[in-house]
Amino acid sequence: MKPHPKIIDRILATIDACQTFCVASHMRPDGDGIGSQLGLTLALKNQGKKAVCWNMDGVPHKLAFLDPDKIVQPPKSDCQFDCVIVLDVASLERLGTTGQHIDHRQHFINIDHHASNTRFADINWVSARTASTGELVFRLLKTANWPITPAIADCLFTAVSTDTGSFQYPSTRPSTYSIAGELVKRGANLANICQEVYQSYPLSRVRLLQRILNHFKLTANNRIAYFWLRPADYARTGADANDSEGLIDHIRAIEPVVVACLFEETQPNEIRISLRSKSDRVDVNAIATRFNGGGHRAAAGARITGTPLSVQRRVIAAIKTALNSTP
Ligand code: 5GP
Ligand code: MN
Repeated sequence: MKPHPKIIDRILATIDACQTFCVASHMRPDGDGIGSQLGLTLALKNQGKKAVCWNMDGVPHKLAFLDPDKIVQPPKSDCQFDCVIVLDVASLERLGTTGQHIDHRQHFINIDHHASNTRFADINWVSARTASTGELVFRLLKTANWPITPAIADCLFTAVSTDTGSFQYPSTRPSTYSIAGELVKRGANLANICQEVYQSYPLSRVRLLQRILNHFKLTANNRIAYFWLRPADYARTGADANDSEGLIDHIRAIEPVVVACLFEETQPNEIRISLRSKSDRVDVNAIATRFNGGGHRAAAGARITGTPLSVQRRVIAAIKTALNSTP
């Protein structure tokens, strides 16, 4: 087997010396965040450790099957931990309110795969080449020689599958398939995961998609596609914020489109943007970073202060500049 990086030994030595843990992930969690945090929490509990699993936002409906015992909880005040481990979190801000409840700790570990990770913890294992944080958790458990139960395998398979767009994104490497294969061997229920994650969209989400397909805009010779999600879109379709995940993929999938962008006013004059790029020459992480956000080359986001129209103008201009500077 490939030698493992020394950082894994450091993390395992720290875990070994600790008894109480908090395992956290980012706000508006996705399959990688929830799968990684639940998978690691279950593994720590199997080792006889005390572990809480915190997220400021609940488990999205389509991932609820991973958490039948409701292990993921909102953060609580006045808790102390020997060790806090955060997973799939590019910067402290991405923890949201969870960040206010994890100060009482001896050790702070950050395990992530975002190129934009700000290395905010005491121990930072950041592997931007790795397609999902779930793969890093898998390598950690393998190195520790801890059992990967079917429940853990379900969580980690979901993490790997969702963050690679079902093994489609160019971030998918041979090792991604090996890990996925091993997770299935260890009991990941592929049919059930795919049914729950990819074949169970609520009708409200389809209605939201219908509105987007009716209203999205094209610019820059159809190379940029963008759309707004407004309160009225949610009200009219009965959808909620959870339903918006992945909608952007339908816009990106149009042939001439190179960059897709979603705008959403999350608070008055605070706009969330989501960016996707289909070209390895257009790095949307670099664009998001200009607006104090981050992410990966092909998928990134930010929260920007300003009026909707001014934010739209600035972001579309930045995308155009990035497109025009490619050969
Ligand atoms: P999404 O567009 O699905 O919300 O996020 C795509 C990627 O960009 C994810 O990897 C996510 O972590 C990152 N991302 C999204 N929003 C933000 C943000 O406001 N700040 C940072 N640093 N990263 C973000
Ligand atoms: Mn991830």
